[in-house]
Amino acid sequence: MSDPGTPVLVVGAGPTGLLLAAELARRDVGCLLIDALDAPRGWDRATVVHERSLQIFEALGIADGFLDAGVRTRASRIFSDGELLGEVDLGLTGSRYGFQLGMSEEVTESLLTEHLVAHGGAVNRSTVLVGLAPGEDGVTATLERDGERRDVVVGWVVGCDWMHSAVREAAGIAFPGADIDARWGVFDATVDGWSDDHDVVFAHLDRPPVILTGQGTAFSAGGDLGEFGTAADPGAAHLIRTLRSPARLARQLGVRLTVAVHGACVGAGIEVPAGAARVTARPGAVSSFNRACRACSLRRRGR
Ligand SMILES: Cc1cc2nc3c(=O)[nH]c(=O)nc-3n(C[C@H](O)[C@H](O)[C@H](O)COP(=O)(O)OP(=O)(O)OC[C@H]3O[C@@H](n4cnc5c(N)ncnc54)[C@H](O)[C@@H]3O)c2cc1C
Repeated sequence: MSDPGTPVLVVGAGPTGLLLAAELARRDVGCLLIDALDAPRGWDRATVVHERSLQIFEALGIADGFLDAGVRTRASRIFSDGELLGEVDLGLTGSRYGFQLGMSEEVTESLLTEHLVAHGGAVNRSTVLVGLAPGEDGVTATLERDGERRDVVVGWVVGCDWMHSAVREAAGIAFPGADIDARWGVFDATVDGWSDDHDVVFAHLDRPPVILTGQGTAFSAGGDLGEFGTAADPGAAHLIRTLRSPARLARQLGVRLTVAVHGACVGAGIEVPAGAARVTARPGAVSSFNRACRACSLRRRGR
């Protein structure tokens, strides 16, 4: 027999499970909400609450908490290799909000937990779904907590347990698709000296950056020494150096290139950082690099 107190088992207390459990509780539908973790995750995943979500929250009477906690962004500006490709103006979407909210998923979860608790619900933590077996009167779910297993019989099981869903696997539901190997990171940081708009999301879809660095005590690059040695005359040697200098490539790479200067710049090494969009340097390297840059800029101005 299914337990009349828990007709629904919700597995996973992320945003989906929390909202579902809160809405079931609001409608007086018995619900057992479990999560494998012993506490909510305290780091950023989703950082944007979209306008449609705000409209849903408004219909549920919980939009104000989100509007107070989030940062309103009215547009997204998209760049590629330093060039502005376009702007998405959320004022044109037809939503009455005309903006999205920047906020950590951790905050989203805490607001949805408040909504759940306000309707008498709770999250049963450190509880893992380890098995499901359908029967005539419902589904037997095997739950594990502190190494101990117990069975509960429920009428419905809802899997809100992320992409490696135990519910989906137990139900034999396929999840076609493939992992994306590329690694990426989310950083929550304060940026000093930001001089652009504060209510716009900036997306930089840059091609991979190139960081040019050296190993020795001086930064030097250019034609190979062997090539100079085989030149028939000084004119040919100069041509080789000019044509083979990586400074030309540095210019072509544009904003993608950072040169890490770790020591004095000598020889052709002077030209490469001067042609780069960005230069980083250790303190000891700066004075010699400045002199080199000054020499290059004087040369560019014909002096
Ligand atoms: C880096 C990153 C950035 C993102 N940015 C955005 C964004 O800007 N905007 C946006 O809308 N979305 C974004 N997303 C997606 C968003 O985070 C997810 O869509 C959202 O977390 C899904 O919520 P969920 O409740 O379905 O699952 P989750 O939040 O993944 O929660 C699943 C829960 O199930 C529990 N669980 C798993 N297995 C079991 C089990 N066997 N038994 C019991 N409990 C179990 C887990 O402990 C977990 O708490 C981002 C995701 C990532 C990773």
